[in-house]
Amino acid sequence: FVHPISVARRVMEDLPHVLLVGDGAARFADEIGAERGDLMTDEVREGWAAWLKDRMSAQQWEKWPATQLAPWARLTADPETAHGTVCVLARDADGDIACGVSTSGWAWKYPGRLGDSPIIGAGNYADNRYGAAACTGFGEITLRTGTARSVILYLKMGLSLQDAVRAAAEDLCQARWFYKGRVTIYALDRSERHIVRTCGDASDRSAYWLWSDRMAHPELRDEGAAEIYD
Ligand code: ASP
Repeated sequence: FVHPISVARRVMEDLPHVLLVGDGAARFADEIGAERGDLMTDEVREGWAAWLKDRMSAQQWEKWPATQLAPWARLTADPETAHGTVCVLARDADGDIACGVSTSGWAWKYPGRLGDSPIIGAGNYADNRYGAAACTGFGEITLRTGTARSVILYLKMGLSLQDAVRAAAEDLCQARWFYKGRVTIYALDRSERHIVRTCGDASDRSAYWLWSDRMAHPELRDEGAAEIYD
């Protein structure tokens, strides 16, 4: 489906549930008339084949494509090639806070792999009383540490936004990362303060767009004075 986040919104509005997956999710998307489309482009398919070929011996390449994917999963996994996640954190004039995340997930993952983006508490979390947080990057680690929820819980415990994000980032960094990867945390509090912080293997910093009612246009900002947590 071309716009899964629109389907997710209808799940939130029309159903008593939070998540639908697999066939049931497709059935619901068809019922609401969501647009279907092939999201796999030739460029991506060719990139994937080239990536694999580069990492396989000639003998291995001959056996590819394999009916069993599991033995190859580590070869096909590349968290750093996934740059497709979009996080939106917003606070409206009534003070309502929302968080939306859309992603194609970790590139070349094992079929069926579920990342952190749709998981409330890991890749996204919003609570009108405190703020909202979302993550991009290595979802396997934010799933384990409940990063977005952690930020909001630290706010609830009375930490400033900066300290709340720092504490969640420290939790992330102390977990065992079985791949080199990085995570960027985006956070917004009730007073419209915001922070973007990258942790892990961060060779470059994240840019983000900021737009408030005091600004005529959205501005592209650099993570800037961000601390990098190792
Ligand atoms: N967090 C996403 C995932 O793990 C990927 C990304 O942000 O690039 O699926």
